[in-house]
Amino acid sequence: MNTCSRRNFVHTSLVAGAALATPKSLFGTTAAPKPSFPVADYHVHLSPTLSIEQAVALGKERGVQIGILEHPGPGYKIQDDADLKKYIDGLRPYPVRIGLQPVYAGWSKSFSRNLLDELDYVLMDALTMPRPDGGWVAIWPIDTMVDDEEEFMGRYMKFIEQILTTEPIDVFGWPTFLPVPIARQYKRLWTHERVDRIIELARARTIAIEINEVAHLPDEDFVSAAKRAGLKFTFGTDSRNQNAAHFYYCYQMAQKCGLTQADMFVPKARKQSAGS
Ligand SMILES: [Zn+2]
Repeated sequence: MNTCSRRNFVHTSLVAGAALATPKSLFGTTAAPKPSFPVADYHVHLSPTLSIEQAVALGKERGVQIGILEHPGPGYKIQDDADLKKYIDGLRPYPVRIGLQPVYAGWSKSFSRNLLDELDYVLMDALTMPRPDGGWVAIWPIDTMVDDEEEFMGRYMKFIEQILTTEPIDVFGWPTFLPVPIARQYKRLWTHERVDRIIELARARTIAIEINEVAHLPDEDFVSAAKRAGLKFTFGTDSRNQNAAHFYYCYQMAQKCGLTQADMFVPKARKQSAGS
C-alpha cells in the first residue's frame, strides 16, 4: 500500500462518495457557510505538494486550524521512538496540531507511552483489515472485491469493534466507509444496530468521530445520532495539497445537524517533552 494509490482512490471516490452518501439535493443548494465556532482540519498530510509552510498559509487564509497527520509503521517514515520524536520536534515550531494516523492495529507497541502523550491526538480508521490467514488488506482501493456483503459487514464490524475497544486513539477516521462494490448499499448495510454499536463503543472511550470531507462520510443520520449520544466530531480533508482546510461537506453537516462548538473535539492538553 502506498500513499499514491490511496490518493488516486480518493479522487475517484470523491464522485462516487458524493453521489452515494448524500442526497442529490446537496448539489442544487448553495454551500453551507463556515460555522461560527473555531474550525480545524485535523486530517492534513504533508507531501511533495504540501509543505508545512503551505499548510499553515492555507489554514490562515481559510481561517482554519491545521492538524498534521503522519502514518507510523512498516513502510512509513515513523518506525520507532527516534522517528516519532523527530516528527514531533520538527512540527513544534509551527502553529499546528500534531497527530498520528496509524494504519495497522497494534501499532502503539512500537512507541513509548511518554512520547505518544506528546501528540495532540491520534486518528485511526478501519480501512486496513486483518486477513483471516494473516497480514492485512486495504479496503479503500477502487478494485476491492466483496463476494458476500453480509460476511464482509460481519468481519468489518468486528474489526471496527477491535479498534474502538483496544486501540489508543482519540478520533475514529473514515467512519462508515464502504468498499466501492457495496457503497450503494450504504443505507441498507449501515443498520440502526450497527450504527448504534459504533456510537456506543466510541462513547464508552470518548473517541471522536471524523466527518470526512473526501468520502462525504458519515451520513447525516449517523452524525445526528452521534450528536444525540454526546459524541464529539472532527472535520478532516485527508488532503495532501491545496485542498487542506477547504470544507464543503463538513460545513453542510454542521449546518444540517446543528453542530455547535460544544460538539467539536478538543485535543487533550499535551505533555511537554522531557528534554525541552
Ligand atoms: Zn489520512
